[in-house]
Amino acid sequence: MKPDLSNIKVQQVPFLQNFRTTVDVLRLDLLHPVISGNKWFKLNRYIDDARAKNKTTLLTFGGAYSNHIVATAAAAAAQGFQSVGIIRGEEPQKYSPTLLQAAAYGMKLFFVNREAYRNKQVPPHVYDLVAEDEIYRIEEGGFGEKGAEGAAEILQLTHENYSHIITAVGTGTTAAGLLKAAAPEQKIIGISVMKNNLALQPQIESMVNQEKRQQLTLLHDYHFGGYAKKTSELIAFMNQFYEHTTIPTDFVYTGKLFFAVKDLLQKKYFPDGSRVLVIHSGGLQGNRSLSKGTLIF
Ligand SMILES: *Cc1c(COP(=O)(O)O)cnc(C)c1O
Repeated sequence: MKPDLSNIKVQQVPFLQNFRTTVDVLRLDLLHPVISGNKWFKLNRYIDDARAKNKTTLLTFGGAYSNHIVATAAAAAAQGFQSVGIIRGEEPQKYSPTLLQAAAYGMKLFFVNREAYRNKQVPPHVYDLVAEDEIYRIEEGGFGEKGAEGAAEILQLTHENYSHIITAVGTGTTAAGLLKAAAPEQKIIGISVMKNNLALQPQIESMVNQEKRQQLTLLHDYHFGGYAKKTSELIAFMNQFYEHTTIPTDFVYTGKLFFAVKDLLQKKYFPDGSRVLVIHSGGLQGNRSLSKGTLIF
């Protein structure tokens, strides 16, 4: 099943706004149950490029709960490609739900140790399975120029004049895409989900024109301990947010994002009259690592 853009909607969220500021949420999470929001947009241009180059197989990298891995597996299956996933760490005795689902989409999984993963080495036995020249390589998280060009299309889904657009940031590819598409007076705010990932700024800047760079603000105070780390305060917030809005979030990305939005509103970060668009980037795979009952959704 292919993702259907008409599933995406803009939702007003009274829980977040106050009399000074309106807040809308762009629900990319509604796009498809597996090919989560921003990943689909980031993958599009790579898939077009792979097709143009007559490649048969998409190869990419990720962890055992990676939204990007399962999205690539599903997108490859939907578009007539084979797929290979290079997975960080030892092959587990019991596969995570994410890996099971990727395998069900036909993705061939190869497990590599952390050092090989860090260097993004493709284990040689991959080439026993597919010839090297048939492989189209996509970087971890869809990072790169083509990913950003695809992500730029996210803003075509709204026609309102938002003053601020705010998104969770992993590799920064989505934020770079939003910057590309933003009107000159719009501000893009990125909530980094990693601790002190100061390399992000130059990474994002490398994907956009000079004059766009001043429209970007990265905030580094909402990582809750680091990538895929969480606190009971974050989990409690996600449950409270769901109760008030029926919007599910994940503890790796969008839970931290919406927490940040609430906190910034309380701190009067946005000037009076601001119209804020929050990008719900989808991706609930990480929640599958939580024990049952942690979340109420
Ligand atoms: C991957 C992901 C992100 C991060 O996107 P980048 O383009 O890598 O910054 C944000 N939110 C969700 C839900 C994701 O799955």
